[in-house]
Parts: sequence; structure tokens; C-alpha cells
Amino acid sequence: MSAPYHAPGRAELDVAIMGAGFSGLCIAIALKKAGYKSFQVFEKANDLGGTWRDNRYPGCACDVPSHLYSFSFEQNPDWSRSFSPAPEIWRYMKACAEKYGIEPQLRFGAAVTDAVFDEANRFWRITLANGRTTTARALVSGVGALHLPAYPKIKGLENFAGQAFHSAEWDETLDLTGRKVGVIGTGASAIQIVPAIAAKVAHLTLFQRTPAWVLPRMDKSFSQRAKKLFRAVPGLQRFFRSAVYLRLEMAALGFLGNRKLMQRVEKLALGYLGRSVEDPATREALTPHYQIGCKRILISDDYYQAFNRPNVSLVTQPIDRITEKGIVTADGTLHELDTIIYATGFRANEPLAELNIVGRGGHTLAHEWRFGAEAFYGITVAGYPNFFMLLGPNTGLGHNSIIFMIEAQVRYIRHCLGWLFREGATEIDVRRAVQKRFNEKLTAQMERTVWHSGCRSWYLNENGTNSVIWPGFTLSYWWQTRQPDPHDFVIAVPEPAPSALA
Ligand SMILES: Cc1cc2nc3c(=O)[nH]c(=O)nc-3n(C[C@H](O)[C@H](O)[C@H](O)COP(=O)(O)OP(=O)(O)OC[C@H]3O[C@@H](n4cnc5c(N)ncnc54)[C@H](O)[C@@H]3O)c2cc1C
Repeated sequence: MSAPYHAPGRAELDVAIMGAGFSGLCIAIALKKAGYKSFQVFEKANDLGGTWRDNRYPGCACDVPSHLYSFSFEQNPDWSRSFSPAPEIWRYMKACAEKYGIEPQLRFGAAVTDAVFDEANRFWRITLANGRTTTARALVSGVGALHLPAYPKIKGLENFAGQAFHSAEWDETLDLTGRKVGVIGTGASAIQIVPAIAAKVAHLTLFQRTPAWVLPRMDKSFSQRAKKLFRAVPGLQRFFRSAVYLRLEMAALGFLGNRKLMQRVEKLALGYLGRSVEDPATREALTPHYQIGCKRILISDDYYQAFNRPNVSLVTQPIDRITEKGIVTADGTLHELDTIIYATGFRANEPLAELNIVGRGGHTLAHEWRFGAEAFYGITVAGYPNFFMLLGPNTGLGHNSIIFMIEAQVRYIRHCLGWLFREGATEIDVRRAVQKRFNEKLTAQMERTVWHSGCRSWYLNENGTNSVIWPGFTLSYWWQTRQPDPHDFVIAVPEPAPSALA
């Protein structure tokens, strides 16, 4: 059933997009291709790129093969390696923006702080950090789930006399030669940073709370011949991409509860650890004692090997405090340092944390999500009409390319925007009961997965709720979101209602 109709006010824009990472870029390209003219991408930084603009630490690269970690509609035969470095991914994104003519739509230095749904006019009132305001009939968030750095809560952090920074805030002019460096964290960034800087520094101390499960990355460069073949043979690259996709998708079986498969993967990882680390005590300290997959599985060809170097040490004692001179661990030892790198990840569990999104009735998303974020397919939230998210709650992955999810969401949102801009609807809002049923099912599914097998991971918030991961196959997400069902939404339409929306 449709809501009663009253005419909308006139908004400056049809669509406002927040963020110019892979998400913002993907929806902007889709809108451009579909002939939309009145849209803008508000990006708080001074360039596009998101993750791949911000993360400039040595060794930064994707951990999903590049031929899959890229847009399906813009395949690149020239990837230099299986897992291309960050600057190359960033260049790819810029080339996409140029090729699809997105640049005129980009507004840099434009951090959105507030977006308030104006119920009388049925549009979003958007405020930027610089005080500028605009209005848009639809609002799309592409602000990223791994965007806001998470700093550890350690006593005395501010007392350190040396240089301390987060891995996502790396200064490329920084020279670590001869320094005594401490790295805090054992996640995806740390395992790329440690081997990349180990040979340069005087000493590297890795402070580990929990060891990661690590598998070999098997990274290799593509020869000129391979690149030529990708370019020349029709369908070869698509075939290669599909093969990579299916291989990764199979791994979901393990994450979703096939313990036997995961035990086999554990064996592989332990074998790799055994072969790679020479010192038995270090090997033991690097051995995880939780189910593989519960935390993100990491891949590296040189992380373990770095611990064979005489200038690299592993500290497993908990950190007690930071002093002027370095890090003091619980056993009272002072580890003297002149540089501390916080490889402590991102505030993944606080999506849209820096934004004040106000929906119907003056309700804020921050309040709505105070016990954990939830949405409908991670895309829409009841009470926030004409608002769409890319990589919203429960659409992160532990096993495959997130760009696949972004593309599925863009297709879904494009359909919804079609209702608004092609079929005359003025407002669409997912039904609360539909969203509730969806999340009950999702929670039940989640409980059977490896992510709920008992470890402490960044996927879980302090209440133990997982609002990060999609607990299923990406193929099933793609299938379920191939077209939005109008019955899931309250749709305000002029009378008489267009048949597709009735
Ligand atoms: C080091 C690293 C490696 C990764 N490797 C992989 C990988 O191999 N495979 C994989 O699938 N995923 C990987 N990821 C996850 C990665 O974040 C996603 O793949 C993808 O880049 C997300 O794109 P996005 O556009 O949604 O977010 P982001 O890339 O985070 O972009 C968000 C953009 O929004 C902007 N923004 C934020 N807030 C505002 C605001 N209020 N107003 C305006 N603009 C705003 C930001 O400045 C940023 O440019 C990795 C993440 C990191 C950090």
C-alpha cells in the first residue's frame, strides 16, 4: 500500500553522494551511465580514492586478487601483480573517474556533517563542515566502513616523546632508517608493514595481543606476455576473474559452519607457520588458539619470515602503559622506542559515526544504532526515506571482494532511484517490520558461523553483536538484491499510482 501523497519541495540536487572511494565512485558511474545529470559526490578529502588514497604505509596492497578487486565493468589487463600495491589501485580508481566523466561531479574538501530529512519537502537538507548547505531528494552514503582509524586505549599515550601515528596516517616522507620502531597490532595492516620495514629499521618490536591465522599469499607479478594475452584474448580476463571469484566463494562454506573444511585450512596454516619461523618459542607465540576464520584470515609471503631476523622481536606481554621513552608491558619491562605505529585498525563497528543523520520524526541514526547498527540488506533503514547506504551494516566480507557487494548494492539503489526519478514516486521508506524480519533471520544465520565461535574480533561490538559481516555467500546476496521488491517499502506516489509501484 502506498502512503498518502503530497507534492515534494524543489531540491537543488536529485542525488547527493557522500564519499569518493570505490563505493561513491561506483554509484556515480552508474548514475552517469543511466543519464542522471543532477548529482554530486561530496568528498571530505582533497582527492578521490578512500582507502587507497589514505593508506600509504609501505607494503600496502589489496588482499583479494586485483583481477577481482576491481569493477566488473572496467577490467584492467595491466595489473602488475596478483595483489597490486595501493598506489596502483588508486591510479586505477582515478582512471575510472576520468573515463566515465565523473570528475565534474566531485566536490573535494566537502565533509558532510549533517543530513536531515525535511518531511514537509520530502528532501534531505545537507550541511558541510565548511558551513555550506544543499538539498537533495535522495542521499547515498559511501563513507566507508574502514575509514575512521581506531586508536588503542592505552594509559599515557600522549606522553610518548617520539613519533606516533596510525597506519592509515602514514607520512610518505618518513624515513625509518635506523629507528627503534614499535608496531601495535597483528591485523591486515600490521602484517604488511612488518616485513616491509624490517630491513630498514634498527629494531622492530611487534606488540601482539592475539596471533593471526596466516596463509601464504602466493603473490606474483604478471609478465608482459600475460598482460598482452589478457588484452588480446576475448573473455580471458573475465574467465580468470570468475575463476578467482569462485575459488574465494567456496571458502564461504567454511566460514558458514563447515568445521571440517576449516580444520583442513588450519592444518595448512600451521604447516606454513612451522616451515617459516625458525625459533620454536616465537613459533609457539605466533600460534593462534581460536578457530581459523573467527578473526580475518591474513595472507602474507613474508610476515612470518620477518621474525627470523635478529632485529625483529615479538612481545606477547600485554601493554601496560606508554611513557616518554616507549612502551611498558605488564611484566614491568620498558621497550625503548623512538617510533610507535598503531596498526590497530578502524572503527568498523561504528558506521557513519561522524555523521548526524536525522530521519523522520527527528530520530537520529546514531540513537537508532546505539546497541548495534542494522539495516535492510545494509542499504536502507526504516524511518530514513530516500536514504541509501553502500557497505552499510552486515555487508562486509571475510572471504571475497567487497567490490562485488558494492556493485550489487549499486544495482539495487539504481532501481530504487528509478522509482523516485523515473516512475514518479516522491518517497520510499523500507517497512520497519520487513527490516526486523530480515535482521532476525540474519542474526540466526550469524550464530552458526565461525565469526561467533568465541574469539574477540573487530567484527563484534561491545555487546557481542556482529553488524559488520554478511553471514552468507556473496552470490546469495547478489541474488536477493537483484531487484528491490516494492512490497518491502512504503512508497509515496502521486495519484493515480504508476502500475509498477501500486
Ligand atoms: C589497508 C586496507 C586494505 C584493504 N584491502 C581490501 C581488499 O583487498 N579487498 C577488499 O574487499 N577490501 C579491502 N579493504 C576494505 C576497503 O575499505 C574496501 O575494499 C573499499 O575500499 C571500501 O570503499 P568505500 O568507498 O566504501 O570506502 P572508503 O574507501 O573508505 O572511502 C570512503 C570515502 O568517504 C569519504 N568520507 C568519509 N566520511 C565523509 C563525510 N562525512 N563526508 C564526505 N566524505 C566522507 C572518505 O574520505 C573516503 O574517501 C581494505 C581496507 C584497508 C584499510
